[in-house]
Amino acid sequence: MVEKCHNIVYNISIKVFGGDIKMKLLEDRILKDGIVADGDVLKVSSFVNHQIDVELMCELGKEFHRLFKDSGINKILTIEASGIGIACITAQYFSVPVVFAKKSKTSNISDSLYTAKVHSFTHGNVSDIVVDKQFLNSDDKILLIDDFLANGCALLGLKALCDAAGAQVMGAGIVIEKQYQGGGDKLREMGIRVESLAKIKSMENGKIVFCK
Ligand code: 5GP
Repeated sequence: MVEKCHNIVYNISIKVFGGDIKMKLLEDRILKDGIVADGDVLKVSSFVNHQIDVELMCELGKEFHRLFKDSGINKILTIEASGIGIACITAQYFSVPVVFAKKSKTSNISDSLYTAKVHSFTHGNVSDIVVDKQFLNSDDKILLIDDFLANGCALLGLKALCDAAGAQVMGAGIVIEKQYQGGGDKLREMGIRVESLAKIKSMENGKIVFCK
């Protein structure tokens, strides 16, 4: 699969320069296959969240690499479940491992775990997210990756795990940011470099409008 990904990226990359066309690829796909559901939820189940378009994800992974290749990233951190696919594809371009925070269903947390509380945008509940201490440490330069950024709770939880480990957050790569929900701006104000490949300005009456 790795070879296939690289071939596809090479073939497309000779036709494009920089990130704008890749962004357009993603925006066009969101307009074509995204479904605006109740509660400000954008469903992209046919290419990100249930069925995964691997060729498109390779393009996005390559774009994250272009944006963060000089940041000294040695590890990617994401959160289960939907972040794992895009994180793994992105990791191929950095040649680094992926760690994913697990959503613990129990409050019986052992001493060998870093933990943080995260309010889930889609499920409406609060869960403890956990990472085993052996997989995050003070030498790490972390790229956070997730599929969506809404209010910012998931990324703040991941940052809290990094802070607890003394790991440095070099930035966050997001597939789709719903900019009007404010999480991205909050994180940028905290000094975190957040790069979102598609930024949605509004989704009123089922119409998706992107930031310019
Ligand atoms: P936040 O924590 O920033 O409020 O929300 C981000 C998390 O909630 C992501 O990890 C993602 O799983 C989920 N999420 C937020 N908004 C959406 C959305 O519109 N569609 C989908 N499919 N997931 C979302």
